[in-house]
Amino acid sequence: MTIPDIIIAIDGYSSTGKSTLAKLIASEFSFLYLDSGAMYRAVTLFAQERGLIDSANNIDEKGLKAALEGPEAPDLRFEYSPEGSQTFIGERNVEKEIRTMAVSSQVSPIATVPFVRAFVDDKLHEFGRKGRVVMDGRDIGTAVFPDAQLKIFVVARDEVRAQRRFDEMKAKGQDPVMEEVMKNLAERDYIDSHREVNPLRQAEDAFVLDNSDMNFHEEIVWVTGLLMGRFDIRS
Ligand code: C5P
Repeated sequence: MTIPDIIIAIDGYSSTGKSTLAKLIASEFSFLYLDSGAMYRAVTLFAQERGLIDSANNIDEKGLKAALEGPEAPDLRFEYSPEGSQTFIGERNVEKEIRTMAVSSQVSPIATVPFVRAFVDDKLHEFGRKGRVVMDGRDIGTAVFPDAQLKIFVVARDEVRAQRRFDEMKAKGQDPVMEEVMKNLAERDYIDSHREVNPLRQAEDAFVLDNSDMNFHEEIVWVTGLLMGRFDIRS
């Protein structure tokens, strides 16, 4: 089955399985996958390491802008690899470090800052120019690629989401506490959907997928059916 060179936008709340779905689509239909949240996470790690955000989430916005855009600024970027994009701060691959609870707990406040969103959007647009891209995030179908030819909004029950995030952290060798995981998801949901610039919301033309009770095979069958219908493909 041949899918045209489109952009597929996947949005939804935290830990709804957006990246799993995006990776499935990427491998099934030979698309490039980009995890937009990784860049917000990289900016957060960078701000933490430079002491530009404190434990009460006060952000030194002027300092962060200068550090990100000044002449000495390290290059925050995505590099493509067959397993998906890898996120770099300068020469450092930070894929692992950006997935810790320390970063998760401060990423949503950082993602409310307008110049941070503009900074990340530039990188996403640059990657989108490669074409044949599936990208997941919070505002991909509403703001980053409003003309994406296919938009999916993923939802899942709260307890399913928390369990998934818990298992994912365990698998990465971390030592998560369920209450903290649930609290973090609720906090991020709230901040992400209430911020001023490009808050998380379902695009009017998005298809909703509730994957709470679905396995990977069922998800890919669902997407395949959608793509066939949309692009008039007869297997
Ligand atoms: O997708 P992930 O959970 O890794 O994203 C981390 C955070 O980055 C989100 O909670 C959200 O605050 C922010 N984000 C965003 N817009 C996107 C992707 C992520 O604001 N497109």
